[in-house]
Amino acid sequence: MNTTIRTQVGILGAGPAGLLLAHLLQKAGIDSVVIDSRSRADIEGTVRAGIVESPAAAVLAKSGVSDRIYTDGMKHDGVEFHFDGGRHRIDFNALIGKSVYLYPQHEVLRDLIAARIRDGVPPLFEHKADAVLDAESSCPRIVGTDAAGQTFDITADIVVGADGSGSIARIPVSGSRGGYFREYPFGWYGILVEAPPSAPELIYSRGDDGFVLISTRDKKVQRMYFQCDPSMDVNSVSDDQIWDRLQAGVAGIELKRGPIFKKDVLRFRSFVAGELRKGRVFLIGDAAHTVPPTGAKGMNLAFSDVLWINQALRSFFASGSERLLDAYPHNALDRIWRAQNYSYWMTSMLHVAPDASEFDKKRSLGELYSVTTSRYGQQYLAEGYVGWEYGADDWM
Ligand SMILES: Cc1cc2nc3c(=O)[nH]c(=O)nc-3n(C[C@H](O)[C@H](O)[C@H](O)COP(=O)(O)OP(=O)(O)OC[C@H]3O[C@@H](n4cnc5c(N)ncnc54)[C@H](O)[C@@H]3O)c2cc1C
Repeated sequence: MNTTIRTQVGILGAGPAGLLLAHLLQKAGIDSVVIDSRSRADIEGTVRAGIVESPAAAVLAKSGVSDRIYTDGMKHDGVEFHFDGGRHRIDFNALIGKSVYLYPQHEVLRDLIAARIRDGVPPLFEHKADAVLDAESSCPRIVGTDAAGQTFDITADIVVGADGSGSIARIPVSGSRGGYFREYPFGWYGILVEAPPSAPELIYSRGDDGFVLISTRDKKVQRMYFQCDPSMDVNSVSDDQIWDRLQAGVAGIELKRGPIFKKDVLRFRSFVAGELRKGRVFLIGDAAHTVPPTGAKGMNLAFSDVLWINQALRSFFASGSERLLDAYPHNALDRIWRAQNYSYWMTSMLHVAPDASEFDKKRSLGELYSVTTSRYGQQYLAEGYVGWEYGADDWM
């Protein structure tokens, strides 16, 4: 049996990008249908991002999704950089008067899903899209199969692909291989551990063995990473070896240990799709771009795309004008490439490439000293980290 649905905007993917877009569109009286292949429990239980930039937190609170980020999130006014035996604090508050919030992505997703349910338009979970069709017609479609094995066909005025880095919406827009791509010769070995925080702020450390990040999820669960070979087998190191590697990266701080309940190896990629629009189909979020996680930009950058496409869709449905739809790729790409640059810069400055020469290592230290000992260098880092103001102003 085939289920057919007609809506104004078909949104493929109930990640932060797709759900925030549906929320903002509804505020403007625009109907949308959000589908996701995963169950609600799976989406709400997947631990990913943790750092929410100041403008992203403001969007969530001002748009009425939730202000839990300000009550339950941890406000961080700075970060520490450890290198060459020394510690250097970047004081966001003193430099630019803003902070970031440690608020896990799955909590953002819980808030966004709760808002869709509260507004009477829950996402269609366990609906897997197989294809996005008819991009260049006035009625693009998402077709797929639900958990019961029934096929569905969502016909819309506009389809938005918010289906993450393995996007299928990208196929009609940009081709399966089109785009700008960079792979890194290192990745992160990450753990989730039951323990209290080891430090009041995040620690980014660069030692001779490479990078270590001491991060946090909340008062009971900590996230820590060390640089590794991207093809490393996650089970090839013992817990003791993991702790030794992490501890060596942050000499002078005693890491608070506890049971490690999740281990993963994260590959690093930078990617921007060759096109963000084909006819009536648009790409946003990780479907449009991927950044390595060092600058904590992915979800925050996805929100920028959401604000631009939301503004364009409001104008389109109010007036029939495609002017802002036409402008979407140009508008979104400005921040996308700045965020690509920032993430690439943080990544290359803080990691040690496997083939790095002694010259490369010493030059990197020179770069870290240049940034951390100059007020302007610190300010550049802080502005990017805390998050540039979003460009789309008319989003609500
Ligand atoms: C370890 C880690 C740490 C990170 N830390 C940060 C951080 O601190 N700050 C930050 O801003 N970002 C961070 N990120 C990046 C961030 O998680 C992503 O950029 C963000 O999730 C992108 O949101 P999205 O909505 O575009 O895509 P996703 O969150 O990937 O959502 C896409 C959704 O589409 C669904 N989907 C995919 N294909 C289909 C299909 N065929 N049919 C139906 N549904 C489909 C998926 O199930 C998924 O729910 C981190 C990422 C990782 C992995």
